[in-house]
Amino acid sequence: MQIQALLQELYERYQGLAEGNVARYIPELARFDPKLFAIGIMTTSGDFYGIGDVEQHFTLQSMSKPFTYGLVLEERGRDEVLRYVGVEPTGQSFNSIILDEKSGRAYNPMVNSGAIAVASLIRGADAAERSKRMLHMFSQYAGRALTFDLPTFLSERENGHRNRAIAHLMKNFNMLEGDLNEALELYFQQCSVLVNIKDIATMAATLAHRGINPITQQQALQPKYVRDILSVMLTCGMYDMSGWWAYRIGIPSKSGVSGGIWGVVPNRMGIAVFSPPLNEHGHSVRGIQVFTDLADQLRLHVFEVLDNL
Ligand code: GLN
Repeated sequence: MQIQALLQELYERYQGLAEGNVARYIPELARFDPKLFAIGIMTTSGDFYGIGDVEQHFTLQSMSKPFTYGLVLEERGRDEVLRYVGVEPTGQSFNSIILDEKSGRAYNPMVNSGAIAVASLIRGADAAERSKRMLHMFSQYAGRALTFDLPTFLSERENGHRNRAIAHLMKNFNMLEGDLNEALELYFQQCSVLVNIKDIATMAATLAHRGINPITQQQALQPKYVRDILSVMLTCGMYDMSGWWAYRIGIPSKSGVSGGIWGVVPNRMGIAVFSPPLNEHGHSVRGIQVFTDLADQLRLHVFEVLDNL
């Protein structure tokens, strides 16, 4: 079946689904219309298919975490990053305050604790340079110059008490490098990067394509780190729903409380869905349905047995 026709079918199938709640913890997320819905697929050969609210911009939120993880892997190497952040699923929600008891490490880079620790590892002479380096990295994945949403950043900074508590706890165990406030600011910045559905599908497709953006052909990440990111996404990317996601959908994916989910089908495509109403785990309700059907209909599960082999 043609991809565009399939997206149209899925859009119509789930447009009327009215379950879930839009994130309310900051006003910038709460104002989103629950009816917004977009699906995008970017193939590794650079063909884009999109349906629905493709012009709508939204913030990356936790969808940013795999990319910053890739940045520090490149800057520090695997062993050094592993000293600060593990690769074990937590079985807990994204904002869990639990750290590994023996080491004081964050369990993995997909939950807030791990992502804040990762942000503290980004290199640069000062806060401005680290911020610029991070935004440049995101822009390379997207293939255009991305920007931060200032109101989202400011209200996260003002309301992020739980993230501050997590950062303090990690600092106590020496699992956060440098200045704590700077690490938090960088983390809030990465959450506030603005994208549309094509951007995020392109960013996903870049990871499906050895770290090379399929449109600009720019190398956003060294190929050897692609598998590090994707394996952690498969085991931890959907928090306490990661086991179910790996079992039922089998596409390494990452969600964000803005209502986006992106996933990577290695060597084939990047998939992105945006729809603000979330389930109790913080994942887009329509997003889950679309990923489930795409995995089944296009047979994208990583462990799918293909008849013609
Ligand atoms: N900015 C959000 C937070 O730190 C991101 C959480 C998410 O998208 N799951 O709480």
